[in-house]
Amino acid sequence: MVINLRGLLVGRMQPVHKGHLQVIKSILKEVDEVIIGVGSAQLSHTLKDPFTAGERVMMLTKALSENSISASKYYIIPIQDVACNSIWVAHIKMLTPPFEYIYSGNPLVQRLFVEAAYKVTEPPLFNREIYSGTEVRRRILKEEDWESLVPNSVIDVINEIQGVARLKHLSKKE
Ligand code: NAD
Repeated sequence: MVINLRGLLVGRMQPVHKGHLQVIKSILKEVDEVIIGVGSAQLSHTLKDPFTAGERVMMLTKALSENSISASKYYIIPIQDVACNSIWVAHIKMLTPPFEYIYSGNPLVQRLFVEAAYKVTEPPLFNREIYSGTEVRRRILKEEDWESLVPNSVIDVINEIQGVARLKHLSKKE
């Protein structure tokens, strides 16, 4: 019987950036398979959450392929938020393959999984001041260099869905 060790990373990934890629690569050095939960899957078309869950799945799939990470090594699962934090872990368990480890730098995510008796690891941050969704979205709106913060395939996806125009439109005042 083959037993695969699995780890879970949950993130809004608005959008996927090079920090997410680095952390996924480092998780795959510790476990056989990584489950990537696309958090707040119900949200899109706002300045903080501009991209749909489907668009974020596309960004991840193409960025992992660009980085030669085999599709047999990961699962990408959109996860909607739930109103009650106390049942969020059960909600995630219902949607994902079984996992042993959880990786997160988000204190609320860490807390909820610690209380559910999971092994929680805080992965090291890579250049967090620039590799952050907030910074990518800020640069898109300011017409500064955002492209260097994301994998090339994510640039292609954002161009395909006219993501720059979407963000700029959403930022207009009524
Ligand atoms: P995020 O995309 O900002 O980050 C996800 C993870 O990626 C981080 O925890 C960190 O480990 C890693 N990361 C990010 N930048 C990195 C960098 N530069 N270098 C290395 N690693 C980096 O997402 P987030 O905001 O933490 O997402 C949490 C999700 O969980 C949200 O969607 C939130 O709504 C959801 N959530 C929901 C509930 C609920 O529904 N009740 C409760 C808790 C959390």
